[in-house]
Amino acid sequence: MPTDTTPAAPGAPALSLRGVHKRYGDTTALHDVDLRIAEGEVVGLLGHNGAGKTTLMSLTAGLLRPDAGDIEICGHSLRAEPHRARRHLGLAPQELGVYPPLTVRQNLRFFAELSGLRGREVRRRTEELAEPLGLGDLLDRGVGRLSGGERRRVHTAVALLHRPRLLMLDEPTAGVDVETRTRLIDFVRELAADGTAVCYSTHYLAEVEALAADVAVLDQGRVIARGTLDDLVRRHGVGYVELTFTGPPPAPRLPWPVTTEARTLRVRVDQPHLAVPEILAALGDAAPQLLNLDVVRPSLESVFLRLTGRRYVADAPPGGAGGHPPEPGRPGGQPAEVSGHG
Ligand code: ATP
Repeated sequence: MPTDTTPAAPGAPALSLRGVHKRYGDTTALHDVDLRIAEGEVVGLLGHNGAGKTTLMSLTAGLLRPDAGDIEICGHSLRAEPHRARRHLGLAPQELGVYPPLTVRQNLRFFAELSGLRGREVRRRTEELAEPLGLGDLLDRGVGRLSGGERRRVHTAVALLHRPRLLMLDEPTAGVDVETRTRLIDFVRELAADGTAVCYSTHYLAEVEALAADVAVLDQGRVIARGTLDDLVRRHGVGYVELTFTGPPPAPRLPWPVTTEARTLRVRVDQPHLAVPEILAALGDAAPQLLNLDVVRPSLESVFLRLTGRRYVADAPPGGAGGHPPEPGRPGGQPAEVSGHG
């Protein structure tokens, strides 16, 4: 992937997918996917296991061909001008063919030279990327001796060597520690501020919030929502007040939907913080049995749950930023709307 000065087509988004369809045998991995990412935009690509995120990234990298639809990178069609299109792309996949016997520095040099960088430029780029990705102390370590999280950082560095205009990161923080995760998020924000478009798949919603990224939700191969965080939370987010009791919860009369589970009572309400006084007043004789009260404001987690009918992640990411308890009384997914944004 040599570095290239081919300009992006003026006004073209960094990434544009139109009507993209991909099947593996009987499995349709992507249905008629439309997605655009502008220069300088970070989009969190969210979806349960098997939703189609890796397929979308592999198609964008030209590693797979779509059965139908068009993909353009910086205005260059992957089908008509594959080399020009791919020169603008950096992909950090979950797995990458880095060479275990070589050190991090040697791997970076190898991939930099494949990208057309030479001599001093290779060294400069290695230094520039080592610091923000926390690779400084690892440069002379054999890649075969790195942890999974450390290896992911090498993948990210490889993807960035040739200064791509579009960066695709496939779960870059899986297995990465808190400090590195924070550093990576800061770095992605800097890249975006410099105009790089970033597509970032993750299982940690807190990262998307920390990135202040726009969001694209993939569900069973379809983009079911696309918009800014604020937009999605306003349109689909729900809040609730969760009360835990020392024994079975009471059944207070309230104007909002209430569900119970073991010793927990959940009240689903748009502005949960404002509902607390009325909820407490409705407890009556059960008030002394109240052990704990949580106010759960509408969030990306509740948006995701509402749109897909399932919580996004069961576990918190390293460092503890995590999701909220499940939305009460929400059985299966409901028809979701696709915003005009994508
Ligand atoms: P994860 O979060 O688990 O990485 P994902 O969102 O990246 O999942 P994909 O890997 O794109 O999902 O898979 C989308 C669908 O296509 C799934 O149903 C998966 O089983 C199927 N699939 C993916 N790769 C292949 C393949 N090579 N052959 C057959 N089916 C595949």
